[in-house]
Amino acid sequence: MKTLVLVEHDNMNMKDATLAVVTAASQLGEVHALVIGSGCASVGEQAAKVAGVATVHVADDVALANQLAENAAPLIASLMESHDAFLAPATTTGKNIAPRVAALLDVMQISDILSVESEDTFTRPIYAGNAIATVKSSDAKKVITVRGTAFDKAATEGGSASIDTVGGAADAGLSTFVSEEIAKSERPELTSAKIIVSGGRALGSSEKFEEVITPLADKLGAGIGASRAAVDAGYVPNDYQVGQTGKIVAPEVYIAIGISGAIQHLAGMKDSKIIVAINKDEDAPIFQVADIGLVADLFDAVPELTGKV
Ligand SMILES: Cc1cc2nc3c(=O)[nH]c(=O)nc-3n(C[C@H](O)[C@H](O)[C@H](O)COP(=O)(O)OP(=O)(O)OC[C@H]3O[C@@H](n4cnc5c(N)ncnc54)[C@H](O)[C@@H]3O)c2cc1C
Repeated sequence: MKTLVLVEHDNMNMKDATLAVVTAASQLGEVHALVIGSGCASVGEQAAKVAGVATVHVADDVALANQLAENAAPLIASLMESHDAFLAPATTTGKNIAPRVAALLDVMQISDILSVESEDTFTRPIYAGNAIATVKSSDAKKVITVRGTAFDKAATEGGSASIDTVGGAADAGLSTFVSEEIAKSERPELTSAKIIVSGGRALGSSEKFEEVITPLADKLGAGIGASRAAVDAGYVPNDYQVGQTGKIVAPEVYIAIGISGAIQHLAGMKDSKIIVAINKDEDAPIFQVADIGLVADLFDAVPELTGKV
């Protein structure tokens, strides 16, 4: 089986999300990577070094500069004539492009896979991760998105793939890139952070969130996350949100502060290796998944903890 892996990147650097997809694809067959972008030759070179990648296809065209799904999907669909499975990370970009590829190929997308059981059988979460479905696809071509936290990352060194140039990209004229606002931060990105300190509604305001959560995260070199309630209340931007409708994370340590543990929040973090919860309600559901729980007022406990780190 020949697979085509969508490389996640910003035209300069390959993102880590790609590496788990390479691992998933290698369980299906030969791995070909696809870089679509503009001025993205260096990304092609990085992808060629990833262990397990046999060939890198680079489609470098101004029409692909912002990886608009409307322009990328027809090109990917044409490459699928010589590949059996298209795999993309279950990230914003992957989830934008893959459904359009599936529609053009007239196949069912298999979303957010957790494991590869065989060439046509996969597991994926349903009901916000409360059940795992085993799904079998009878489509000749597979279009798959991969949950990054479910697969080990392929090594970024050790590969020596050939690089092949793909032409034929065009502006489909269906969408236009207007602008983007990217939050710049020195902090580790949430989906790759080893430690995450996450705050909930209990913080009460953006000032208190900053005053209580940030110093602890700084000391631990951690990423900062939040519950949807904290995001909806405007304490932090929405790219901090962890959960069913936010980011799916699985760090070494996840510290949930003033978060009740609603199933939609658990769906985004319950695979974390060690879960620490600080909540003043001893019956809060977060304690059911916590490895370490502290029943305390966060406004006392967290500054004390920060002082001792
Ligand atoms: C379709 C759908 C999708 C959703 N997606 C998400 C999602 O992606 N992510 C997400 O997080 N939520 C999501 N939600 C919302 C989710 O259901 C909860 O409403 C939300 O997670 C609650 O956030 P919270 O735990 O911060 O607030 P609350 O549930 O209000 O909990 C606050 C907690 O803080 C504790 N507390 C209060 N004061 C203190 C104090 N001084 N010290 C210590 N502890 C204190 C309380 O005991 C309580 O447990 C979704 C909901 C729906 C319907």
